[in-house]
Amino acid sequence: NSPETKLALTLLIAAPRGFCAGVDRAIEIVERAIDRYGAPVYVRHEIVHNKFVVDGLKEKGAIFVEELDQVPDGAPVVFSAHGVPKSVPAEAEKRGLDYLDATCPLVSKVHRQAERQIEANRHIIFVGHRGHPEVIGTMGQVAAGQMTLVETVADVAALEYTPEDDLAFLTQTTLSVDDTAKIVSALKTRFPQIVGPKAEDICYATSNRQAAVKEIAPGSDLVLVIGASNSSNSLRLVEVSERCGTSAKLISRASDINPAWLDGVGTIGLTAGASAPEQLVREVVEKLSEWRDVEEHTLVTAEEKMVFKLPRQLTE
Ligand code: SF4
Repeated sequence: NSPETKLALTLLIAAPRGFCAGVDRAIEIVERAIDRYGAPVYVRHEIVHNKFVVDGLKEKGAIFVEELDQVPDGAPVVFSAHGVPKSVPAEAEKRGLDYLDATCPLVSKVHRQAERQIEANRHIIFVGHRGHPEVIGTMGQVAAGQMTLVETVADVAALEYTPEDDLAFLTQTTLSVDDTAKIVSALKTRFPQIVGPKAEDICYATSNRQAAVKEIAPGSDLVLVIGASNSSNSLRLVEVSERCGTSAKLISRASDINPAWLDGVGTIGLTAGASAPEQLVREVVEKLSEWRDVEEHTLVTAEEKMVFKLPRQLTE
């Protein structure tokens, strides 16, 4: 296409989008650990769920493994932003490994709440997605049998507890705000005595990104969400758009875009999950500009100023 023949495309870009404070911190921990200890530095699990980020850190000297027994004796190891069961730092200490914990402080906050509820002799109902590393990490803060996972309102209905039991609830940080409100409401209806956090534990970044999609989706013909298929918060952004009636595609980067998706499309909404770098957003804008005459609009629904401190080992 020559520039004269390009069709117009309005691009509605969500803000906030992309990196959150927990992801920024986790990446910086790996980079600083490589500076301090020298390469290689081991990282248990993808530091954040994004291949582009992981590949960039591999180039700098990080080695990604799934379990601690893949880390050689004497090598430094970083735990991912999603958090780890208590058994993992315990095992690292037993082996005398230098470890750095990149667990997001908002996930650690849920871990501490779990400990407090167990101290108060309550059984915990945890709202989350089975198999997600954050869920494995949070459930691993307490002994087996002290926490029950629910994923849906139907799971709440099937719980075998009574209104007389001492119960508490906690939630994963990257859930759908709307679905979680329904699940928590079902818990409170069945167990009026249940104790929980004032607001559910869904983090500021997850809620802000979902609210931003609600702003761009209704005026868009298609929404593109940049993120990984194992990124919980990115998958939720696709759902939010679809529930607004706008079909959405999860893409890992610009090369995933099928030009046929643009047929008959005049407005595209664009956002990125909390683990997707801004560079990938620009890459998508450039790709779309090759095919269309793009007019960009950023819709700001919230300002984020959150910054988390690095672990003491890296700042001393
Ligand atoms: Fe922390 Fe939320 Fe970012 Fe997860 S999405 S790393 S909980 S700020």
